[in-house]
Amino acid sequence: MKIKAIAAAFAATVLTPFAMAEDQSDWALVIHGGAGVIERGQMTAEREAEYRAAMHAALDRGEAVLEAGGSALDAIEAVIHGMEDDPLFNAGRGAVFTAAGRNELDASIMDGATLNAGAVAGVTQVRHPISLARAVMERSRHVMLQGEGAETFAIEQGIEMVPPAWFFTERRWASMTRSLERLGLDLPERPEGAPELQGVDHGTLERDEREHRFGTVGVVALDSDGNIAAGTSTGGTTAKRWGRVGDSPILGAGTYASNASCGVSATGTGEYFIRLTVASRICALVEFQGLNLQDASDQVIQDELTAMGGDGGIVALTPSGEIAWSYNTPGMYRARQTAGGDPVVGIYGDED
Ligand code: ASP
Repeated sequence: MKIKAIAAAFAATVLTPFAMAEDQSDWALVIHGGAGVIERGQMTAEREAEYRAAMHAALDRGEAVLEAGGSALDAIEAVIHGMEDDPLFNAGRGAVFTAAGRNELDASIMDGATLNAGAVAGVTQVRHPISLARAVMERSRHVMLQGEGAETFAIEQGIEMVPPAWFFTERRWASMTRSLERLGLDLPERPEGAPELQGVDHGTLERDEREHRFGTVGVVALDSDGNIAAGTSTGGTTAKRWGRVGDSPILGAGTYASNASCGVSATGTGEYFIRLTVASRICALVEFQGLNLQDASDQVIQDELTAMGGDGGIVALTPSGEIAWSYNTPGMYRARQTAGGDPVVGIYGDED
C-alpha cells in the first residue's frame, strides 16, 4: 500500500508535467517575411545573418505563447508585433513608401475557430496594424476599416499611435525615389520628422531592392486547443498610388483561416492574389477536393498564380499540423516550428 501511495504521489508530481507537455505537443507555427528575388551571392553575409536571426526571433516569440498554452491569435499578434517593429520587414517600421511619400499600412487577422476576422487598410499612424485588425474583429461590428476612420477607431480603443516618421527608413525611401524616377513621376517631399539624409551606399540600396522586393510579414498558428488562426501585415508595394490596397488586408486573398481546412498567409503582387483569392482557394482545395496542403498550395501558387503572371508565395497550416509553403519567386523568408521540434528557417529556393 505504502509503495502504491508513493507511486501515486510520484506520478502526480513528476509524471503529470510530462503528460501535460504531451497534451500541448500539438502546436505549430509557420511564418513568412516576404518573397522576392532573393538569391545567394546577391546578399551580404551580414544581411543574411540579420534575416535569419529575425526569423528565429519571430519563431521564439510565437513559441513562447503557444508553449504556455496561449491561443493562436495571441501567437500571431506576438510574432507580428516584433516583425512590425523590425526595419528589415515591409510592415510597420520599415514599410515601403507610396508615390506620395507616405507609409500606408494594411493588415488582417482571422480566427479559424469562429471565422471571425478583422482588417485595416491605409493606416498611417498605428504602430501595430495587426493589433488594430484584431481590435476591429473583437471590438467592432465590422470586418474592415480604412484610412482616417480606422485611426479614429484605433484612438478610441487605446491602440498605440505613433507619428508617421516612426515608419521611415532610408532604404525604403531610396527605393521609392528610384521607382518614381523610372516611372518619370515627381519626387515627394521628405516626410516631416524624417532624419536628415546621411550618406547612403547606393550599391547596398540597389541590392536591397532586388533582394527584398516584397517583405510583407505573415503567420499561421495552430494552438494546443486545435485552433488555427492567420494574420498578415504590410506596407504594400513600393510607390503605390491613389490609395491602392493590396491583398494583405483582404480576407480570402492574403489571409484566411478555417478550422475546417487550413490557415494561409500570402505575400507577393497583391493584384494577382486578390483576383485568384489565393488564401481561401487553397483552403477550398483542402476542404472540398481533399488535396493535401502542399499539393493544394502548389496547385494555386506554382500552376494558377504563375499562369496568370503573378509572383509571390504563401505559408499554410492545417489543424492536424500539416505545414506547407510554396512560392514562385527565387526566394522567400520563411520559418516553421512545431512543439518539441527544431526550428527551420529558409531564405533561398534551394534550401528547405
Ligand atoms: N502582397 C502585398 C501587397 O500587394 C505586398 C507584399 O506581399 O509584399 O500589398
